[in-house]
Formats: sequence, structure tokens, C-alpha cells
Amino acid sequence: MGIVETKNLTYEYIRRDEEGNVEGITRAVDGVTMSIEEGDFIAVLGSNGSGKSTFAKHLNAILYPTEGSVFVDGKDTSDPANTWDIRQRAGMIFQNPDNQIIGNVVEEDVGFGPENMGVPTDEIWVRVEEALKTLNMYEFRKHSPNKLSGGQKQRVAIAGVVAMHPKCIIMDEPTAMLDPLGRREVIRAARALNDVEGVTIILITHYMEEVIYADKVFVMDKGRVAMQGSPREIFSRPEELKKLRLTVPQATLLAYELKKRGLDLPDGILSGDELVREICIRSGKNMELEKYKKALSEFAN
Ligand code: ADP
Ligand code: MG
Repeated sequence: MGIVETKNLTYEYIRRDEEGNVEGITRAVDGVTMSIEEGDFIAVLGSNGSGKSTFAKHLNAILYPTEGSVFVDGKDTSDPANTWDIRQRAGMIFQNPDNQIIGNVVEEDVGFGPENMGVPTDEIWVRVEEALKTLNMYEFRKHSPNKLSGGQKQRVAIAGVVAMHPKCIIMDEPTAMLDPLGRREVIRAARALNDVEGVTIILITHYMEEVIYADKVFVMDKGRVAMQGSPREIFSRPEELKKLRLTVPQATLLAYELKKRGLDLPDGILSGDELVREICIRSGKNMELEKYKKALSEFAN
């Protein structure tokens, strides 16, 4: 069994009037079956309203299925007796770092999670130090979170989850409110947690560029899984992605159009650099790689 297993997961938001009569039903997640192995880096893509957040909230027992089931590390989320264990094993990061940070000092904030779990004080400090170092935020341990950039705050929030030693971290659009540098910092941190610490990462995003390092990508639309595969498999279907209102990277689109016009290029080009490399190899211009790379990267990224 994987670390996360959903079977036919369905969730309906029910709107009621003041008397409690049902006014409307929104089926936000509609029959999602997904199996995620421990140690995987998974990306869940989808445009606004496709059901990503509703899905994510099930993995942390914030919401319970209307139909179907969710197992986290073998535990059924719909059994309240499992909620505590599930929240320790599967940590959650949200869009807005300001809503996730409560401490006045960075290291205090990171310590709250393990403290709530009843970890002994000595060990809390060891965990806080480790977590801050892993997230490259150790030098800020005595700072006030208020003065940090968005990307730094988000990394403090992630450190807070890491200090609880979860097996899995679900990040729901963690970069949506960040500038490009902050976005890079957070994605790099997520990759390092997965690569170095072996933490299972489920990254929810609507930015296509953030999924290129994932082991597997699920694309959601109207509450269902509309596409799934490796990033390369997903990127080789740009027309379908556009129909799902996702912005495909320029380099991917350009490669796709060139290929359609007869150029011999591989499927699913992921970045400007990769496109440049493939074109250079094919045109025998290896010597001028740097020159081409610069010119094309400026254009394609
Ligand atoms: P995403 O995270 O992909 O933007 P959501 O899971 O937030 O998608 O939303 C999926 C659908 O559920 C949307 O149609 C949205 O309007 C609806 N929805 C989300 N939250 C609520 C809520 N609290 N009450 C009613 N409907 C909701
Ligand atoms: Mg959302």
C-alpha cells in the first residue's frame, strides 16, 4: 500500500439556507483514485476551481469523503481515532505564509508543532535546529517572522512541518503569493526535502514549470483526474493542457510547433535549455552551444 491511497474519492459541498434546507450541491472532487508511493515527488496540476484544495484537505483529515475512501500511511482518514496520527504523518502547507506563522521569533514558531505533539523540550530544540538548517533558514532563527520575505516565511512554515518529522508534506500552491525568487527558493526546498530526506512531497500548483522535477503528475479538471503521467508525457500533450486552462511553457509550445512542422525533436521538451540543447545537437553546432543557449533561452523562457 502506498503512503497515500484514495479510492473513488468524492466530495460535495452542500449549501443550506437558514432553515437548513439544501440550496445547492457542488461536487468538488469526483471519483479520484490515486496511489502515491513513499518517497515520491508528486505534482497535482489544475486550473482554479478544479478541486485541488478540496482534494488536498482530505489527505490531512481536514475534510472527509462524501463517498469513497482515503488512506494515509495505511490509516483510514474517516476514522476520527486516526486524525492525530494522520496529521503527524502528513503535514500541510498553504498558500499564505502569514496565516501559518504564529510565533514572534522564527525558532519558537518552528518549535510549536513538535511541542503540541508532546516532544520533550531537549529534542524540540534539536529538531528546530535541524529543520531550520534543512530549509536554509538557520541564520534567521532569532529573527521576527514579520521582517522576512514571502519565500523566507514560507520556508519557516515548511520548517515547522519538517520539525514534526512527517513522512509526507502536502503543499497547496505554496508559491502562489511569492515573487520569482521566493518561488524558486520554495521549490528548491521541496526538492531537497524529497531528494535528501526522502520525504514524500505532494506539490499542488497551477504553474507548469514547477512540475518538471516531479516523478509523476496528475492533472485535475472539474474534480476528476484528467491526465496523469511523467512530466515529459504530460508536456507532450500541450493542446490538451491548454484546453484545461493551463499555461504551457513557451519552450514546450515552440518545440511542439517545430516538431509539427517536421523538425526532428523529442516529445515533451520541458525547458528552454533543453530545447536549445536538442536543436544544437541536431544542427551539429555543439561548439556554439553557449551562444545558442543564451540567444534561445532569452526567447524561450
Ligand atoms: P482549486 O483548489 O483547484 O482552486 P477548490 O477545491 O478550491 O479548487 O474548489 C473546487 C470547487 O469547489 C469549486 O467549484 C469551488 O467553488 C468549490 N468550493 C471550494 N470551497 C468551497 C466551500 N467552502 N463551499 C462551497 N463550495 C466550495
Ligand atoms: Mg486551491
